[in-house]
Amino acid sequence: MSVVGVDFGTLHSKIGVARNRGIDIIVNEVSNRATPSLVAFGPKQRAIGESAKTQETSNFRNTIGSLKRLIGRTILDSDLEIEKKYLNATLVDVNGTVGTEVSYLGEKQTFSATQLVGMYLGKLRDITSNELKTGVSDVVIAVPGWYTDVQRRAIQDAASIAGLNTLRVINDTTAVALGWGITKTDLPESDNPRNIMFVDVGHSSMSVSVVAFSKGQLVVKSAAYDRHLGGRDIDFALLKHFATEFKTKYKIDVLSSPKAMFRLAVGCERLKKVLSANSEAPLSVESIMNDVDASSKLTREAYEELIASVLDRIAVPLQQALSESGLTLDEIDAVELVGGTTRVPAVRARIQEALGGKPLSTTLNQDEAIARGATFACAFFSPTFRVREFHVRDITHYPIKVTWERSEADPEEDTELVVFPRGNVIPSTKVLTFYRKGPFDIEAQYAEPSGLPGGINPWIARFTAKNVPVDTSGDLTCVKLKTRLNLHGVMSFESAYVEEVEEREEAMDVAAEGEAPKKKRVVKKIEVPFASFGASLDPSVLEQLKEQEAQMHAADKLVMDTEDRKNALEEYVYDTRGKLDDRYASYVQSSEKSKLLSMLQEAEDWLYSEEGEDATKSAYVSKLDGLKVVGDPIVARYREAEERPKVISQLRTSI
Ligand code: ATP
Ligand code: MG
Repeated sequence: MSVVGVDFGTLHSKIGVARNRGIDIIVNEVSNRATPSLVAFGPKQRAIGESAKTQETSNFRNTIGSLKRLIGRTILDSDLEIEKKYLNATLVDVNGTVGTEVSYLGEKQTFSATQLVGMYLGKLRDITSNELKTGVSDVVIAVPGWYTDVQRRAIQDAASIAGLNTLRVINDTTAVALGWGITKTDLPESDNPRNIMFVDVGHSSMSVSVVAFSKGQLVVKSAAYDRHLGGRDIDFALLKHFATEFKTKYKIDVLSSPKAMFRLAVGCERLKKVLSANSEAPLSVESIMNDVDASSKLTREAYEELIASVLDRIAVPLQQALSESGLTLDEIDAVELVGGTTRVPAVRARIQEALGGKPLSTTLNQDEAIARGATFACAFFSPTFRVREFHVRDITHYPIKVTWERSEADPEEDTELVVFPRGNVIPSTKVLTFYRKGPFDIEAQYAEPSGLPGGINPWIARFTAKNVPVDTSGDLTCVKLKTRLNLHGVMSFESAYVEEVEEREEAMDVAAEGEAPKKKRVVKKIEVPFASFGASLDPSVLEQLKEQEAQMHAADKLVMDTEDRKNALEEYVYDTRGKLDDRYASYVQSSEKSKLLSMLQEAEDWLYSEEGEDATKSAYVSKLDGLKVVGDPIVARYREAEERPKVISQLRTSI
């Protein structure tokens, strides 16, 4: 199996792999350690990751980012109003989930966010298998701890669409904590653990968790979030500021043009980064709109004022995580920062201020800590990659309850129960007991909908018990229902059964002589047939989407291979023509040369004709093969002559 961990970020994603007895963050096709989280559509093919980024400015309407923010949502979710500020593509409903409408292969097509993430994970899979030179199947994917059941299920579905098997959906800061703890050899005993606070401020959200470490284990004590606090909020505050400035300065309304907004946002992000290390920075955006080249500048001081409303919210999750951990500030041994936005000096200052001036540590690689941790989590599953035993005890963020209709036989019966309260350990199994005479239904849902990400449906899963066995005494039947909050933070109904107690006489040789045979109570489980479903995709739909993805992937590959063969032909034409007058000159007869030259000319003309501009892969291949029939013997003669002196000298030395 492959050992792969993915930090699925709003802006960029990172991939970790286990190899050479360690964990490496791998690079993509252009040698970057982070791959833009973007999927784009064009007239001939899709562009994903780096290639999507390259064409973003010219094709921004068909380029979709914020994938992590969209997956698992519906078009009606109130949060989408916020997301639209950062998106250029059109959002639409796709079978009850949010998706996008794009122009692809010359026509309008729609894809759900789950499919888009599937496409993106497929790209990460290709990057990984290219690096490892082997197929990739198993992964651990890190997601924010505030992700709900439906978002976690959607990530798993997306991975399946890409042909990946998610061994674990792990919470971002838990992955960081794992990476931090597993390499430490000096952890204390569990009665006196080392308490670390992890703070991640990324592009779109902020997470804080307090984790207790002791020998061989970590225990997440608390976690708190601001789902809408990150680098993009800073960029947006800057964008609004400059848009206002440019209204009077250049008489242009940037906010009226999505393209101009996009260009300005790129400039603002750059400016923000410069301001992290300088007290003043320039902004310049060429031909922002109406042929205006806009420029301006900003001091650190003015910048911090502009983003005050963002900075003001930083203390909230920090204080919440601290108070829910039950620890005092003094009991926190270190505060570890990760995430790109913790590079902003004012963000650090606010974190420190909220924590009573505590020193902040950056001992982790702030961009790669999540991917590393996720990779360790994946390594636990590997039979070949040995990692130190380390127990991870995470908790769930939202309380889950089950509800049912009151039994006719018991007018006093409650109709709901919180099964997994906030802070419940994951994974966890709980057995519920119901007294029923016939089939019954149970629903699982989040107990406090107001705390969920804006607009997310609190519904989680439904369970229907069929054919409940009749109790022989005429009483209600006692049905046990096993519910599970699994390793991914996803809740499910595992099994339903009736327990039957039988009293059996023990075999004679066990009973002492002269005594009456002992009776032994044996509990037999009788399965109760049931149906249950949650918010995951239906297996048949999933199969269909997998197939569709495989087809699109194959089509992209064909386009790329075709382009590759076209380039090879073009290169051969120029390269050979040059060499015929140069290094091949002494090895070619004039008739042969003129024949090849005219063939090369013919190929060149064809390449730039309408037909050759956009031909099939096999057309390019056969054109090149045709040229090589004449060209190869010349190359062979040249090579042989080149080799001869070497071979002779080798022979001489061996004699
Ligand atoms: P999220 O975790 O919210 O899903 P992400 O993982 O993609 O997002 P990160 O890679 O942690 O986000 O951080 C990206 C953010 O950090 C961007 O907003 C980027 O502009 C910002 N950033 C990166 N470097 C700097 C810097 N030197 N100064 C200021 N901001 C920076
Ligand atoms: Mg992140």
